[in-house]
Amino acid sequence: NAKSAGKNRYLIFDEEMNRAQLRKLVLEKDLRKAMVHDEFKIMYQPKWDTGSNQLVGMEALLRWHHPQLGPVSPAEFIPIAEETGIIVPMTRWMVKEVCIQNKKWQDRNEMQVCISVNMSVRVFESETLFEMVFEALRDSGLNGTYLELEITESIAMSDVQGTIEQLQTIRELGVRVSLDDFGTGYSSLGSLDELPVDTLKIDQIFIHKSEQISKQAIISNIIAIAKNLNLGVVAEGVETSDQIEFLQSRGCHVMQGFYYGKPMSAFDVSYWLEHKQKDALA
Ligand code: C2E
Ligand code: MG
Ligand code: MG
Ligand code: MG
Repeated sequence: NAKSAGKNRYLIFDEEMNRAQLRKLVLEKDLRKAMVHDEFKIMYQPKWDTGSNQLVGMEALLRWHHPQLGPVSPAEFIPIAEETGIIVPMTRWMVKEVCIQNKKWQDRNEMQVCISVNMSVRVFESETLFEMVFEALRDSGLNGTYLELEITESIAMSDVQGTIEQLQTIRELGVRVSLDDFGTGYSSLGSLDELPVDTLKIDQIFIHKSEQISKQAIISNIIAIAKNLNLGVVAEGVETSDQIEFLQSRGCHVMQGFYYGKPMSAFDVSYWLEHKQKDALA
């Protein structure tokens, strides 16, 4: 009857909750070992300038292949890494690897572009960001202008003055800063002009629905804000030629998305540079 069915539902709900909690516990525990066990991989996704028709940057994205559970999405493990604080040594490792890899690409004359790394609030709070960037640049020999930090509006909001000061010292190394997922936070417009940033990245939720007039209005305004504040603008999540046409018509020319290239391993980037890049040029 209905009563026992209801009771069953609670049981199933409980079981599902337990399973989710258990998985989180397992991930939390294994995340600590993942770095030493070499389970992380860095993927690189192209940023393409449709104006000059060339590659202008890459974004480094972390991947975790769990030995038993298989691939775990950053959407799932980054929040856990943040909660546990593992995000700090993880980001230190990431920044260093990215600088070393980028220097290799430059030395082999394969490409000379700025590569961005995503930054969590926790890393800003740890107050070790300058040191980790400084050491990565020093140890790799990479020029600071080829490293970019992607921050979200939430970082800028938690401690505006502290964020501004940290970013200023890091930018003295030549390092660039972009505001990621722009348009999805709420309150940063007020201090946007005070933030030491170079570029706004339009969040992909707007791009994916850019056939809607209301989303077009938002995109156009983000582009206008960028232009008026003298900032660069990049569209994220670009998948179709319609989206590209629309973005270009509104004055946004730098695109990142599956249309131009999915996140690739460093090995595949070298291949892409040599062969596939021509497809994007066509
Ligand atoms: P994000 O920084 O906004 O990165 C863009 C995400 O969109 C990536 O997902 C990328 O694979 C995906 N993407 C790119 N182009 C397209 C497209 O055309 N269509 C669709 N549907 N998706 C596209 P990913 O790699 O799963 O990362 C998700 C988020 O996890 C990132 O969002 C970032 O916030 C975070 N993340 C990833 N790696 C790191 C990291 O090393 N450190 C930190 N703190 N966060 C990271
Ligand atoms: Mg990003
Ligand atoms: Mg983004
Ligand atoms: Mg995102």
